[in-house]
Amino acid sequence: MSSPVVIIGTGLAGYNLAREFRKLDGETPLLLITADDGRSYSKPMLSTGFAKGKDADGLCMAEPGAMAEQLKAEVRTHTHISGIDPGHKRLWIGEEAVEYRDLVLAWGAQTVQVPVQGDACDRVFPINDLEDYARFRAAAAGKQRVLILGAGLIGCEFANDMTLGGYQCDVVAPCEQVMPTLLHPAAAAAVQAGLEGLGVRFHLGPVLNRLQQVAEGLEAHLSDGSVIACDLVVSAIGLRPRTDLAAAAGLLVNRGVVVDRQLRTSHANIFALGDCAEVDGINLLYVMPLMACARALAQTLAGNPTAVSYGPMPVTVKTPACPLVVSPPPAGQEGVWQVEGSGTDLKVLCYGADGQLLGYALTGAAVLDKLALNRQLPALMA
Ligand SMILES: Cc1cc2nc3c(=O)[nH]c(=O)nc-3n(C[C@H](O)[C@H](O)[C@H](O)COP(=O)(O)OP(=O)(O)OC[C@H]3O[C@@H](n4cnc5c(N)ncnc54)[C@H](O)[C@@H]3O)c2cc1C
Repeated sequence: MSSPVVIIGTGLAGYNLAREFRKLDGETPLLLITADDGRSYSKPMLSTGFAKGKDADGLCMAEPGAMAEQLKAEVRTHTHISGIDPGHKRLWIGEEAVEYRDLVLAWGAQTVQVPVQGDACDRVFPINDLEDYARFRAAAAGKQRVLILGAGLIGCEFANDMTLGGYQCDVVAPCEQVMPTLLHPAAAAAVQAGLEGLGVRFHLGPVLNRLQQVAEGLEAHLSDGSVIACDLVVSAIGLRPRTDLAAAAGLLVNRGVVVDRQLRTSHANIFALGDCAEVDGINLLYVMPLMACARALAQTLAGNPTAVSYGPMPVTVKTPACPLVVSPPPAGQEGVWQVEGSGTDLKVLCYGADGQLLGYALTGAAVLDKLALNRQLPALMA
């Protein structure tokens, strides 16, 4: 039998690529390998599970066996790739070598860990896949107070979700506003006010230094000397594209695994997409870009080389306490910001020197203007 197309990773990138590929090619052997349990789920739903009353099983959309059947593929679960040998078109799972026709890296991004002092480090939970989520749900059962590290998009979503799920949430982050890399300060203030209205408490500026067990739970000691009582901690301080194995195999890496518009790495038979990929200089950790990449790469793997293009890529942030849609200006493009509206209903627009709309943040009732504004936005990668 000929060597298969091998996809590493069964997140949204891996499974969507496999689905798109099977629409074009029903015959080529297809092997998906994943370090996790291979269940199909939509990762954005991890930050809406408490409000919707869904545990990990409730968020699972299909078991790996069903996915294998649907995709006419083999799915190997709980299997870590340990190395890639591009010269011989094979990869390593420990001592076992697996040959490939083409290899696709869809191995995502890993959570950034902070070293925390104290005797309660095991009460810090990153939530980046369904198994993390199951662990956190189990630990949170019967508890009431959650400390969230990080005030980025994911930290704010968890704060909103867990508050709706009945938890008291404190958010700690060493920044002056929420979502500092994504939002204009006016839009950030609106989102923070919306979340505070729900009961979320923000501690912006300090970092967590020490986490200590006490009789009635935990004490989080912050760098500004304050102490927060909590029962467990969610770490949402950021994600870093996985690049180590690619770099060790001699592939070009930068922030992510470097690929061209055809999603091809610096090695001809190896491709990458999703959170791990830096596509023509752009590394976006969102669903819309990976769907565009999956469609283009499926064509290339089926024998019709196709370049991906990105239109505008607005992100809907799941903070119903203050609805938010954001489309940051393309990297490197400077513009002038204009703030319209009042309270938490803001239209924050970024215009280039030629009057072209470059980006926006819409909060509260202003999110209704999204579709009209999207038509004016430039493509991120034409
Ligand atoms: C809580 C949360 C909420 C989000 N909400 C949104 C949202 O509302 N909108 C949006 O656009 N985006 C959102 N995102 C981002 C979005 O979910 C991700 O961009 C997307 O799911 C990434 O998919 P992926 O397949 O690239 O990576 P992943 O889903 O991380 O999949 C990586 C896969 O690779 C496997 N793997 C890793 N290393 C190895 C190895 N060495 N060997 C074998 N397998 C390996 C893993 O087991 C896994 O199967 C959110 C993210 C989070 C965490």
